[in-house]
Amino acid sequence: MVTHRHEIVIVGAGIAGLAAALEAAMAGRDVAVVSKVFPTRSHSVAAQGGTAAALGNMEPDRWEWHFYDTVKGSDFLGDQNAQALFCQEAIDTAYFLEHIGVPFSRTEDGRILQRYFGGHYSDFGQGPPVRRACLAADRIGHVMLHTLFGQCLRYKVHFYSEFLVTRLLMHEDGCAGVLAWELVKGEFHLFQAKLTLLATGGYARLFQVSTNAAINTGDGMGMVLEAGLPLEDMEFVQFHPTGLYPWGFLISEGVRGEGGHLLNADGERFMQRYAPAKMELAPRDVVSRAIQSEINAGRGIDGKPYVYLDITHLSEEVIKEKLPQIREMAIKFAGIDPKKAPIPVAPSAHYSMGGIPVNVDCEVLADGKKEVVPGLFAAGECACVSIHGANRLGTNSTMECAVFGRRAGKRMAKLAEKTRFLPLPEVQVKMGQEEIKALFERGPKVKVGEVREKLQESMTQNCGILRGKSQLKRQLDILQDLKSAYKNIGLKGLPVAYNLALQEALELKHMLNLAEAIVRGALARTESRGAHYRTDFPKRDDKNWLKHTLVFMQEEQYRLDYKPAVITSFQPEERRF
Ligand SMILES: Cc1cc2nc3c(=O)[nH]c(=O)nc-3n(C[C@H](O)[C@H](O)[C@H](O)COP(=O)(O)OP(=O)(O)OC[C@H]3O[C@@H](n4cnc5c(N)ncnc54)[C@H](O)[C@@H]3O)c2cc1C
Repeated sequence: MVTHRHEIVIVGAGIAGLAAALEAAMAGRDVAVVSKVFPTRSHSVAAQGGTAAALGNMEPDRWEWHFYDTVKGSDFLGDQNAQALFCQEAIDTAYFLEHIGVPFSRTEDGRILQRYFGGHYSDFGQGPPVRRACLAADRIGHVMLHTLFGQCLRYKVHFYSEFLVTRLLMHEDGCAGVLAWELVKGEFHLFQAKLTLLATGGYARLFQVSTNAAINTGDGMGMVLEAGLPLEDMEFVQFHPTGLYPWGFLISEGVRGEGGHLLNADGERFMQRYAPAKMELAPRDVVSRAIQSEINAGRGIDGKPYVYLDITHLSEEVIKEKLPQIREMAIKFAGIDPKKAPIPVAPSAHYSMGGIPVNVDCEVLADGKKEVVPGLFAAGECACVSIHGANRLGTNSTMECAVFGRRAGKRMAKLAEKTRFLPLPEVQVKMGQEEIKALFERGPKVKVGEVREKLQESMTQNCGILRGKSQLKRQLDILQDLKSAYKNIGLKGLPVAYNLALQEALELKHMLNLAEAIVRGALARTESRGAHYRTDFPKRDDKNWLKHTLVFMQEEQYRLDYKPAVITSFQPEERRF
């Protein structure tokens, strides 16, 4: 087995991982990034619409307004200390990104161009919408990720690509590093680190229709759960209102930001019944539920489970200049020129609000509350700071990755000097090896794909946009069956080198564990808040539920705990749009 030693090991090469790597490398530290795909294939590359910062380039804007919108968008569950810090640091981070070379779209006088996005308003939600999303046509993630990658190479970050991390190596004094499997060769590698950062992204692939890349299976969160550490607010899963029907590919909110209308089978702009003031630019949870309700009421187009997103009234020039990728996707996949005909859309699983509980320096919390796990950090979509609470505002995620990735990098750079390497725990290394060995020794009684498809279908059906007690209970039973089936998955006779079935099997284990964490949290939370909508408890209940869920797993048993949401500036109020 090959052993590598780096002061800082970062798992994940999306925006969060690379922002952290760059900061730590710029501070002169020895940094390695381990990723299961080539860095620029991380899901961050797919971000379309923009990245949020109250620059005020188009009309006056203030970070305090961004703060209020983020708090309200989160349905008051986000932690306001973290949200305030995020909105302030977003401004500096946008300029940092500009200075390292991110090719933003420009205003006529050369400043960063900004566009409208759902949930972003002026004057503490009282004024008109404000253009806060910094854009690069409709490919913000692509330009951020490629620029960060180039800078990381310049600062000599070590990259280990197509290495699947399978396990955290936990010493009693903290995290000692990770165990990884080199996919191409089929070999184990040990990464010993003074400090380890998880930046492994989200888990929206747990659902049948998803905007996410196939690799978004929540591995980092799964490894944390396996290590006996908690996850936070897992029941809050964002469904993006506009996935291209029937595939679910993302049609950016930027389309509605540019003036797109949502229409039902009667040609009605139905958002007027759900959010009369904000219409199509209400936050995502509100728009997704509205679309689902229209579909459930039989007003989907031709009785099918989708509605129309109409931009035929926009000029050809706006569509081609500001939404080129969307146009291309509609033409290539659906055979529709969006200038001539409306685009078929339906909600699609998009984003995980919950994740690994961390403090504002991205240090992982052992009890989910205050106690820090020495040497272990998390940032980006896999972490829960919590900025997004029960619902994320569009464009806040890429910026969260950049802001908190940078914070993690700086913090780790500062700690690296005085931190020592811990010995690698042999028992855990052995367990990691045994796990893969056992998979290759078992015969294939059950196929990975079969279990995964059943998981995705059932999660969408029973734990989707609208969920109730009986559905959730049914889902728990289904999960027990799927977990039993998982034990019969085997890879006997298959080669070890570049064995993607092995990768899928290891990912599926995490997906099953995470699904149960989501369902248990959702079943316990007898209220509706943000993206979590209980058909049997349709109201928000601040008296009992203004708190974060913490879920622990031990020997396949789950335990829930709670901690209060941090409220510093804005008291909960009814969300009206
Ligand atoms: C289609 C789409 C459009 C979006 N548009 C926007 C937008 O316009 N604005 C916005 O703010 N947000 C947007 N988002 C959300 C945002 O892009 C993501 O939340 C964010 O980019 C996540 O970045 P990340 O760095 O946390 O993780 P990711 O970019 O998902 O990267 C995860 C990394 O972890 C690695 N990894 C995972 N597991 C393992 C493992 N076991 N071993 C080794 N490596 C591992 C992967 O290889 C990858 O490098 C969009 C999301 C999607 C899906």
